[in-house]
Amino acid sequence: MSIDSSLPICIAGQWRLGRGERYASRYPATGEVVAWLNAADLQDVEDAIQGAHQAFLHSGWAQRKPHERAAVLYRIAELIRQHGEDLAQLQRQDNGKPINETRALVASAAGTFQFFAAACETLEETITPSRGDFVSMSLYEPMGVIAAITPWNSPITSEAQKVAPALAAGNAVVLKPAEITPLLALQLAHICDAAGLPKGLLSVLPGKGSLLGDALTRHPLVKRVSFTGGTRTGKHIAHIAADKMMPVSLELGGKSPTIVLDDADLEHAVAGVLYGVFSSSGESCIAGSRLFVAQHLYDPFMQRLVDAASQLRVGDPADERTQMGPLISAEHRQSVERYVAMGLAAGGCLRLGGERLGGPAYERGFYYPPTILEGLSNRQQVCQEEIFGPVLVALPFTDEAQLLEQANDSLYALAAGIWSRDYKRAWDLGRKLQAGTVWINTYKQFSISTPFGGWRDSGLGREKGRLGILQYMEQKSLYWGMNQQPLAWAGLSREVAP
Ligand code: NDP
Repeated sequence: MSIDSSLPICIAGQWRLGRGERYASRYPATGEVVAWLNAADLQDVEDAIQGAHQAFLHSGWAQRKPHERAAVLYRIAELIRQHGEDLAQLQRQDNGKPINETRALVASAAGTFQFFAAACETLEETITPSRGDFVSMSLYEPMGVIAAITPWNSPITSEAQKVAPALAAGNAVVLKPAEITPLLALQLAHICDAAGLPKGLLSVLPGKGSLLGDALTRHPLVKRVSFTGGTRTGKHIAHIAADKMMPVSLELGGKSPTIVLDDADLEHAVAGVLYGVFSSSGESCIAGSRLFVAQHLYDPFMQRLVDAASQLRVGDPADERTQMGPLISAEHRQSVERYVAMGLAAGGCLRLGGERLGGPAYERGFYYPPTILEGLSNRQQVCQEEIFGPVLVALPFTDEAQLLEQANDSLYALAAGIWSRDYKRAWDLGRKLQAGTVWINTYKQFSISTPFGGWRDSGLGREKGRLGILQYMEQKSLYWGMNQQPLAWAGLSREVAP
């Protein structure tokens, strides 16, 4: 197929063009077109949901034994691995992340399918202690059609974290990837087809969230929405869900504090803080973007941090040595720039970065350098709002009680980091920090077996973990009467033969 032809999209078991507007997916490093697509429109949403509903009712997927569903998910994991390099290269083009990062994301997606296959075939239902002449059980049923809505920053990983458990649980899924990063979701649908997933169980609808995501959320046949994205969109979805009495899971934004205590190992802390905020060019919900450093370490620590950050290799995502690629789009880079200007206007000063990179290597992409601001207070807008770019704000602290107050003083509560050699101190602080995830002497490390999610404006619900599959199931209690006599209340008693 020529690059000028539109890619077909996957709707209710058919690969065909969307009925919406034609648009291009572009490589953020050069602006070049990677692929053309026709977005889905509202009729496509309806077709996908009806197709998913029919597949849920009639494909037999929900009735398959758990180990049979698991077998398909294991095949999906295997196929993702087999096509790993192609997927990683495509993802690099779709969203501009460095190739080493996209390889890790693809491997993580394969691991997610494998993990939820295992969770599916080992899920136990229980016989609960009986308090009468009955046997009581607690069981789980699939819900029906699940809508999965994902952002642009980690395609295939975000998608796998929703699609794998939802399918494992026996549901059908309609997936809406971010408009600007649709390609990996479409490849995932091809892989699911090749692995033998029944037709119609997974549809992929590229296009605008305000149109398609909204319609999916409102649709009466959609029984749950699993959303990852911005807090404003998440709240909008939560309102619609409340009217439908529909459960939702919301993985939203963050402004995570990283704390360097006065007994920290400086080398480890510098490496961890750098990775925590600047990897993925800061386009990460868990970026450790608010740095608190013990006052008496502040100057030497900041000097080492600034020196190390200035050595980070920003550039071509295809180069294996690159640590930071471009930002996702010109608009997003402008938004990052506005935040830096706001920080400066509020009295902050730049320790590093803050200006676009010059030179031919950076002309066409949406590059922005590692940037460090200081001299601000935690209450200022730049320290409170998610910038979603390579911008760190650094604040010294003297008193640990005040530090805790400031670290927790945020609408967000997604993640936090602590650097200290004293494990008792770190334990104490770690328990008091309000966050879905706290890393101690490490940062941004993940395991699919560990639940993930946020408090407050960072979200509702948890993804991952062996029990992550349960959010896509309804719990049901089943009672089996074992009475020798009719229930006593009616006053009827059966004649017992002599
Ligand atoms: P958005 O909330 O703008 O978009 C996320 C998804 O929602 C996209 O697919 C988008 O579609 C869709 N969407 C937009 N409007 C609606 C609507 N009215 N109804 C339903 N769906 C809609 O976030 P970004 O794409 O800007 O992603 C960045 C955000 O995601 C950051 O805040 C980040 O912190 C958060 N995030 C959270 C993570 C977590 O696990 N907690 C992980 C990764 C990111 P489209 O883009 O096509 O318009």
